Amino acid sequence: MPPIPGSGLAKGLAVTLRTMTKKTVTEQYPDAQPELPPRTRGVIGLFEENCTVCMLCARECPDWCIYIDSHKETVPPAAPGGRERSRNVLDRFAIDFSLCMYCGICIEVCPFDALFWSPEFEYAETDIHELTHERDKLREWMWTVPAPPALGPRRRGAEGTRRARKAAEKLAAAQEPEPEPREGES
Ligand code: SF4
Ligand code: SF4
Repeated sequence: MPPIPGSGLAKGLAVTLRTMTKKTVTEQYPDAQPELPPRTRGVIGLFEENCTVCMLCARECPDWCIYIDSHKETVPPAAPGGRERSRNVLDRFAIDFSLCMYCGICIEVCPFDALFWSPEFEYAETDIHELTHERDKLREWMWTVPAPPALGPRRRGAEGTRRARKAAEKLAAAQEPEPEPREGES
């Protein structure tokens, strides 16, 4: 059956009308800031004090975009007669965000909680080299990492704390000295 003349136009107009009445999902960024979830994967922050230069993150990164340099230092023995120890000292820690695919593997594998997601995302550059963030920049991102959510009352952590406090109170009560008998009391 041949198509009715003008039916295509009518269908098109129907789609337009339907779309006009729907709630718009487009956000007018940068005039309006988008409402992002607090755990958005925006950029990675480095908490340098926790980093032991184990290199796990750099080895596991699928894009090879984490650059770490370090050197070894000898630490004198803690007590006389003890042995000298050597430790890694961080010289460079950088992430190239022009290569990073925001998979989060580096954060997952870090055994010492030195890497965190920050929701900040406004760091576009006109020069691609500027997207390699060195340790100072990664540290600055650290201060934009949201605090972890509090444990709920039914979570194990809260329950464990409650039990530990109760046990400590019981122990303290048991260790309290008996009150001295007053004069006239036998
Ligand atoms: S998020 Fe993924 S790609 Fe980006 S630095 Fe970490 S491991 Fe590499
Ligand atoms: S895995 Fe963690 S501790 Fe190891 S080098 Fe990377 S950031 Fe540092």
